[in-house]
Amino acid sequence: MVDFSLNETDQKILEEVKKLAKATEKNSRYWDEHEEEVRHMGQKAPEAEAFSYIFDMMKDRDKKEGACSPMLYQMTQSMNQGLGDGLMSIMSGQRNWALGNASLQAAGTPEQQAKWGNTLLAMANTEPGCGSDSKAIETTAVLDGDEWVLNGEKIFVTTGILCQGVVVWATIDKSAGRGGIKSFVVMKGTPGFQLEKKEKKLGIRSSDTAAFVLKNCRIPRENLLGLDEEVKQKGGGGFKGLMRTFNMTRPMVSAGGIGNVNAAYDFVQEAMKKEGVEMNWEAGPLKRTSIQDKMIELESQIQAASLSTLRAAWLAEKGQPNNLESAMCKSKGGEISRTGAQLAIELLGALGITQDQLVEKAFRDARITDIYEGTGEINRLVVARAILGYTSEDLM
Ligand SMILES: Cc1cc2nc3c(=O)[nH]c(=O)nc-3n(C[C@H](O)[C@H](O)[C@H](O)COP(=O)(O)OP(=O)(O)OC[C@H]3O[C@@H](n4cnc5c(N)ncnc54)[C@H](O)[C@@H]3O)c2cc1C
Repeated sequence: MVDFSLNETDQKILEEVKKLAKATEKNSRYWDEHEEEVRHMGQKAPEAEAFSYIFDMMKDRDKKEGACSPMLYQMTQSMNQGLGDGLMSIMSGQRNWALGNASLQAAGTPEQQAKWGNTLLAMANTEPGCGSDSKAIETTAVLDGDEWVLNGEKIFVTTGILCQGVVVWATIDKSAGRGGIKSFVVMKGTPGFQLEKKEKKLGIRSSDTAAFVLKNCRIPRENLLGLDEEVKQKGGGGFKGLMRTFNMTRPMVSAGGIGNVNAAYDFVQEAMKKEGVEMNWEAGPLKRTSIQDKMIELESQIQAASLSTLRAAWLAEKGQPNNLESAMCKSKGGEISRTGAQLAIELLGALGITQDQLVEKAFRDARITDIYEGTGEINRLVVARAILGYTSEDLM
């Protein structure tokens, strides 16, 4: 039976996270303005101590009960409710977990997972000529003796500044299309692996986004995730394995977006209370105001996105296929994050766009949810393919 209720330990952890998010809410404005990578504040960050406490509780829990994705989902959601990208960055730094770590989990051998398990890894798929269509990757990897030689350009790499290494997607055989795409761990400091720039963005400004160039960048042969011999036998490090990365990360991204819109929604409710606007949830259709209609719609969309996200995370936790569910929840989470934040501003008027309040920031932070980890259009394509039993060649 599907049961999303939390046990006592999880409830306690979640309460701590919520308290932390609330207590440190004001810092998110500072991080936003300074575009500061929060982790660089290290132990000086006021949250560091509280975070260590939470992570100790989580480690303890993971040891006893096993890591739990729905729990992680709930955490992401409540974190974003307070701080969004800032708190997420601290989490990334403290837990050494970024997108590349999900790729490592999805496509690496057990030995590789042990070797880089505690290394903060970003993930670089996107290129100037390749975004939604991953098979358009131009970055090449050529085997030369016991080394791979990488050449190409990667853009929009989340945590690119903060990370210790990057999981780079490259093709070893362009004529093989998706089949030629593999992923390689490239550590910072490797000659030929150059950081080009840090993006200046609309939102999620304290989560860094970077661009890299790879020029005759030589890395050990065993840095190919899944290893080349194994790839031939099992396809472990191949494209399909890599795409499984998204089955884990899409629920997380959706959760972040839902947290963001929840924060804006909470603010709207508080503002209405202050203005003496009563929300009569029980009023029938003939008595409801237009504001009530909008709030009911918002509430129901948030609940629908939350439930579909919990389901995708629950399946991931159980080790069950969740390709359809993760794309579905990301599409819903992305949409409600974007439209919900827009609606919050509509309901608040000027209060929604002043920098004196955080709704303005939530609005800017929300937009990305429907872009990275597959845009809304791409996730709906994945959903359609899964329902119809089509391949990406059948429906693109
Ligand atoms: C802040 C930020 C962080 C990011 N982090 C990372 C990261 O860590 N690693 C990484 O590799 N990438 C990252 N990205 C890149 C992100 O994944 C891409 O921007 C995204 O996949 C879309 O690609 P694109 O921007 O090239 O748009 P395009 O693929 O060019 O798409 C443009 C538009 O066309 C639509 N579209 C495209 N194809 C179809 C289709 N077949 N059917 C219908 N509509 C379609 C899209 O939905 C979109 O609206 C990040 C981007 C941002 C902004």
